[in-house]
This record gives sequence, C-alpha cells and structure tokens, in this order.
Amino acid sequence: MNMEVGNIIRHSDRDFPGRQAAVLFLIGCNFRCPYCAFGSLIDGRGLARIWSEAQVFQFLESARERLDGVVFSGGEPTLHPGLSNWIRRARDLGYAIKLDTNGSQPDVLRQLIVEGLVDYIAMDVKAPLENYSQLCGRKIDTEAIRSSVWVIKQSGVAHEFRTTVIPGMHTVRELKMIADLVHGADLYAVQDFVSKHTLRPDLRNRLAFPDKPLNDMRGYVLRRVERFEVRHDKEARPMPAFGRRRSSARSVETANTNFLA
Ligand code: SF4
Repeated sequence: MNMEVGNIIRHSDRDFPGRQAAVLFLIGCNFRCPYCAFGSLIDGRGLARIWSEAQVFQFLESARERLDGVVFSGGEPTLHPGLSNWIRRARDLGYAIKLDTNGSQPDVLRQLIVEGLVDYIAMDVKAPLENYSQLCGRKIDTEAIRSSVWVIKQSGVAHEFRTTVIPGMHTVRELKMIADLVHGADLYAVQDFVSKHTLRPDLRNRLAFPDKPLNDMRGYVLRRVERFEVRHDKEARPMPAFGRRRSSARSVETANTNFLA
C-alpha cells in the first residue's frame, strides 16, 4: 500500500491539545466500521485529491511559521511501513507529533514510543473487546487491541482513548466496560456520531446518542481515568428530547469528504 494522504486540514486548534496543527489523513484502513465517516479514506476510491509525500512536505515546510504540530490520522496510519520516516521528517521540521490510531498494531506503537517519535497518542476504542468484530465490520484481533491499550497507558506519552457513540450499537453499560478497559488512562472521551457520511447507508441520518446518560456516567468513569470528556459535534443530530448545551468541537471537515485541497 502506498503511503498517501487523502485529505489535509491545513490548520486546526482542536485536534492536537495545546498545538496549532495540520492533520494528515492517510489512505488505507484494516477495519470496516459500518459507521465510518471516512469511507473514501479506506481504499482511496472517490477522493478528490491524493497528496504525494513531496506535496505533503512542501506544505509542511511552508506552514512552519504558523503551525507547531502534525496529526497523523486516517484511515489507519500504523499500517504504513513508511510512517516512522514521515514522522522523523516532520520532527526535523520542528513539529510535535500526534498519532491517531485504531490500536490494531501494538508493535508499531511500541516502536514509535521507544524511539521517542510521538508526543501524543489518541486511540479509538470502538467497543468492549467481546463486541469489537461486530462494531468494526470484520474479525478483529482483540488481544492486539488490549496490548495497544496497555502499551499506551504505560508509555509516559500524553494520551487519550475515545469512543464514537452510536445509538443502537452502544449502551451506557458498554461504555462503562470500555472505561474499565482503559482504567488508569489520562483521558477517556466519548464523542458524537455524525451520520452524514457513513459506510453503511442505513446508518445515515441516525440521531446522535443523548447527552444526559453520557454525563450521568461521569462519576463512574472518573473513578477509573484522570479526565472524562463528552465531545459534541456541531454536525451531529442530537435526540430532540435531550437537547444540547453547546455545539463544538472539532470541525466535521475532519469527518467527511469535504476536502480542503
Ligand atoms: S472508523 Fe476509523 S478504524 Fe473504522 S473503518 Fe473508518 S477509518 Fe478505519
């Protein structure tokens, strides 16, 4: 698989804590989550533009004055053997590095950590381990997921675990089981499902998980991790009865095919 980028957010102040960052969305993923909002990044089909390595680094060179971080996201960045070289190149330009991962490659994570190449790691935890294959659309090696959680927690690198919460696919009980799994972590975040662009068409337009039960589990989660966040997205469609206090967070340009290039 060539290492190519299917989308770049040129400037984000929300995707890398404390940093002004570019976000690189690498093409290729080994999961097939039915609710995936990045469908065209899985295999690169239907992308408006593909960025080569030369083009990516030309952009990063030119952005050094205004940015201080690069997020390697996807797709799944750790599938690419060239990832560490790209990270080294970005570090040589002065950037701090955040890695977004699905946790399927614990050996790659371990190596990046040992070599001191990552400053922040965000791992998606899709479900309790026994439900993983169902939530991810194919058979998943859950021991690899468990290892990645452990590797990240022990790493000393700033990190978060996060779950996109899908009504009808997750329950509060399952979210608490995920909090048990990541016990001892810096941060666990639950985030809105945005249903505009999903891999499985029947999930489109599904409403986001209600706010109240997410906030009600705060006490449970905070007995297991240092911080807990409920992240809302302005493009999510919340259940009307529950409403929302605020819209936020990360621009959904990160979560659909609205390419900036
Ligand atoms: S949601 Fe993430 S892990 Fe799942 S298929 Fe999409 S890019 Fe891959």
